[in-house]
Parts: sequence; structure tokens; C-alpha cells
Amino acid sequence: MYGGPNRVQTAFGEMRAVYVSYLPKRFEEIREAWTQARKQQWDRTILVKLHSLVYSMAGSCAVFGFNAMAKTAYELQYVLASVIDYHQIPTAEWEQHVEKLLDDLEEACSHIRDTEAISLPSPSTDEVEHPLSQEAPKEQQIAILTEDEELWQDIPQLTHFGYRIQRFTDQEAFVRHVAAQQPDAVIIDLDRPDGLEAASRIRRGGVQFPLILFVSTENDITVRLNAVRAGGEAFFSKPVDMDVLIDRLEALIDHREAEPYHILIVEDEPAVAEFYAYVLKDAGFVTHIVTRPLEEIMSALVDFQPDLILMDIYMPECSGVELAKIIRHMESFVTVPIVFLSGEQDVEKQLDAMSLGGDDFLLKPVEPEYLVRSVRIRAKRSRVLRQLTVRDGLTGLLNHTAIEEHLMKETERAQRQDLRIAFAMIDLDHFKRVNDTYGHLVGDRVLRSLARVLQQRLRKTDIIGRYGGEEFAVILLDTDSTHAARILDTVRENFAQIKHRVGYETFTVTFSCGVAMFPEYPTFFELHDAADKALYEAKRRGRNQVIIAERTGFRSLYS
Ligand code: GH3
Ligand code: MG
Ligand code: MG
Ligand code: MG
Repeated sequence: MYGGPNRVQTAFGEMRAVYVSYLPKRFEEIREAWTQARKQQWDRTILVKLHSLVYSMAGSCAVFGFNAMAKTAYELQYVLASVIDYHQIPTAEWEQHVEKLLDDLEEACSHIRDTEAISLPSPSTDEVEHPLSQEAPKEQQIAILTEDEELWQDIPQLTHFGYRIQRFTDQEAFVRHVAAQQPDAVIIDLDRPDGLEAASRIRRGGVQFPLILFVSTENDITVRLNAVRAGGEAFFSKPVDMDVLIDRLEALIDHREAEPYHILIVEDEPAVAEFYAYVLKDAGFVTHIVTRPLEEIMSALVDFQPDLILMDIYMPECSGVELAKIIRHMESFVTVPIVFLSGEQDVEKQLDAMSLGGDDFLLKPVEPEYLVRSVRIRAKRSRVLRQLTVRDGLTGLLNHTAIEEHLMKETERAQRQDLRIAFAMIDLDHFKRVNDTYGHLVGDRVLRSLARVLQQRLRKTDIIGRYGGEEFAVILLDTDSTHAARILDTVRENFAQIKHRVGYETFTVTFSCGVAMFPEYPTFFELHDAADKALYEAKRRGRNQVIIAERTGFRSLYS
């Protein structure tokens, strides 16, 4: 949510003061460009630069509420544009007009300078999120009320998916625990005569009551109706299929909190950029500022991976419209929305910017709340669209193309930043048998359960994909192959213990895994090939194990 107008107001005051301290320098740059332009017989390049300096100033002044200056600067840019855009020959009259406006601008500027300048409170913390954070996903708490030993025997499987389970047989203790500990979900056995009562007591405990799931031997409509009336989110008949239960739990509890949206701010005026960054950060976005686009834009795109680009139009180095074109020429960034942010009031120019790759246009000054709302809607939409094209339909993991793209990008980044990456390929063992014995749908459920275990057991920064069929791939950033193999070996053990249920029958499935490391295998292809060979070696050695590929040969954690 957009938080605290007061804090934003304070930030606004601070950035405004910073901008005021920059103003003399900005003004000098404009004078300098004007002198140059005259010296060079109205050289077009210099005039264009002068124009964008003036336009930038107009926009920044508008943002910070220096209206008189903004107005004069707009007028000046308009006069300059008449020569640039319409190729009119500069006349003595025109020159005088510009001079006059420059004087007016300086006059307006001197009034502003009285405002006290305060320095920025703290350096900006817009660093790209570091992949080093080792935090494991948060465990979800579940409380279960049941006396059914058979059900309870299956329940510990949930721990493989990152749930912590606490069992109760006494209603009183159960209700007290729920009130005190506020678990994420409760499971209530309706075979108990007091099952519905327990549910209603929990609901009376307050608005923040947990998800309620029911299990029952009965499966008729009255039992189900009662479950719905008691606020149940889901109903399972015994014997409970744990894969199905977990599917529902996963859908109901949003495990991996959504990554905050990444907003790249391209704006030549640092104070303006800082102000927008402040407003966006305050609303929960992660921001990164580029003030010198030609030098910084490429690495910012690759390293920061923006969900949306907020782009100033007038910058001295190159225009926002040109920059948008460059970005649109890069395949990986074709779909990132670009929102132009400018004082541009000329409708035709706006349309121009849109047709050249901009998705929207926000006029300076933009109200903070409006900025936050516009950015959020567009970033969200862009992410949803991107997910549709990069996610695998069965498991929700990245698909083949997406995981390869990630691996390419990450190896490039690792090269630049001198980091290690582990790449792992996973293949289910004798999976054909599962399909042949229990059918394809059951096989699909097993694939989904492996996807869940991987998501639960790996770090948020690890990149997980379904490579195809019953093959999965994982990219572990800033991790060496031994460490990665250890992590995947834990996943292997966890997964192998899961009992997949078909009616009253259960079975288990294992996987084999091959790991290779960058920079030992320095290109995407070598990395992929090495992991694949290690996977094959794991199969050859009897399956259900993790093998590391090294230049000197294959290695297992246990030999
Ligand atoms: P190995 O241990 O050597 O990997 O044996 P395997 O049976 O797993 O290997 P094989 O490559 O012979 O068979 C892979 C099987 O995976 C074939 C197919 O039935 C199954 N499979 C591939 N994709 C899917 C899918 O999307 N859903 C289901 N249910 N099964 C799939
Ligand atoms: Mg600008
Ligand atoms: Mg296979
Ligand atoms: Mg297989």
C-alpha cells in the first residue's frame, strides 16, 4: 500500500532542497550550451542538447512546484523547438527572444535559490537485490485435530513440503493453541462428534482465524454442506490423498510471497529520480536509478531485470524515445512496459513517443499516489503476461525456454561479477512404470509434488524449471557444486519419502540428479552438457542419487 503522505511530504521537501542546490549548475549548463550554439552557427546537435536541458529543467521545476520557472522554461523550449523541429532559420529576433527568456529564467531561478538547501538524508539503497541471501522459505504452521491414527500416519509427509504440523486429540487444547499460535491452517477431523463445534469456536476467535480444512469418512452432501457452513475452505474424504491435500494447501496459502516489482527509473535529474524512487519504495517497490543512460542502461536492464521502466523523455545524452527504441530492439526486453514521464504537453509528441515503444505517458508533476497506482497496475499486468509465456502449465515452474534464458543471463552476470553458479538436472527414476501402473493423471500429480518440494526446499533466489517431460532443472546462484549437491541431496531424500496414494495403495518415487558448476564449465552449453552427463552417470550407478560433474571426472557426495 501507498504508505504515509507525511513521509512522502518530507522526502519531497528534501529532494526539492537538493534540486535547488543543483539549479545554479543546471542553469550554467544551459547558458554554456546557448553560447556554444551561437558560436557553432546554430549547429543542430547543440541546439537539440540545449533544448533537452531546458525541457528537463521545465519538468523538474514542475515536479518540485517551482511554477514560474517551469512556465518560463516551457516557453523557452517552445521557442527553441520552433527552430529545431520546423527548421526555421534563426533570426536576430528569435535570438533576442531566447536571450530574454534566459534572463527571465535566471531571474526566477534567483528567487528560488533563497530556499535553504538540505542534503539528502541517506544514500540511496537501490542496489540490485543480492542473490546471496540464504534465507530458507518460511515454514507454514498447521494444527490438526484428529484421533484417527491412520490419517495421522500420512500427515507427517507434509513436513517434506515445508509445513510444521502439530497434532491435538483434545478440543480444548486445540482451540487454545490456535488462539495463541495463529497457525496458517487447521485440519479438523469431522469423524469427531465435536469437529464442527471446534471449527465454530476457532472462527469466533477473531477475524484473523486460520484456513479451515475438513476431513471425513462420510462423503455425502449434508456433511459437505455442514463443512461449508462451518467456514471450511476445503473438504477431503478419507483416505486423504496427500498430494491433493498439498495442492489445495499450496493454492490457499500463498507461500512464496510475491517478489516486489522492480522499477527502473531513467531520469537525468538526480533529485527528481530520487523523489520518484522514494515514493515507489515507500509503496513497496524495488527501484534502481539510471541518470546517465548511455553508460548505465544496459547493465541496469540485465542486472536489475525491471518489471517496468519509468522513463524521462528529455535527457541531454539521448532522448527517452530513442532509448525506448534501443530497448525494444533487444529481444529479452521487448515486453517490459515503458512509461514516459515528462513535462511534455504537446499531444503529438506524446503520440510519437507511444508509437515508438512507450506504453504510457504520465505528465510531470505526477501526484505520488497516481504514480504508485499507475506503476503498480502496469507492472502487475506485465508480470502476469510474462508468466503466461514462461511458466509450465502443469507445475507452474519456469518452462524449458525460460530456464535456458535464465541460465544464459545468469552465466553472463556471473562472468561479469565473478560469481559461481551451480546448474542441476533432475530426472525421475523409472517414471514410465508409474504411468504404466497408475495412469498418466497420477504421474502428473507426482510431477507436481516434485515441483512443490523443489519450491519449498530451495531458496527464493534459486531458479527452478521443468525442462520437459519428467525432467527438471535448477539454477543455484552463487553456489558451488558441492554445496548445491548437498542441497539437492536433501531434496532427494525428502522426495523419496513421500507416499503417493492411489485409493488405498501407496507408492514412492525417486529421482537422479547431475550437477555442474560455472566457471568450471564456462559456457551455457558446456554447463548444460556436463550436468546432463552427470545425470546419466547417476542413472548408471543405480539411480536415486546426486552426481557432480568435474573436469577430472564424476564425483558423488559419498565417495
Ligand atoms: P529412467 O530412470 O531411466 O529415467 O526411467 P524412466 O522410465 O523415467 O525414463 P523414460 O525416459 O524411459 O520414460 C520417461 C517417462 O516419463 C515417459 C513418460 O511416460 C513419462 N512422462 C513424460 N512426460 C510426462 C508428463 O507430462 N506426465 C506424465 N504423467 N508422464 C510423463
Ligand atoms: Mg530530463
Ligand atoms: Mg527422462
Ligand atoms: Mg526418467
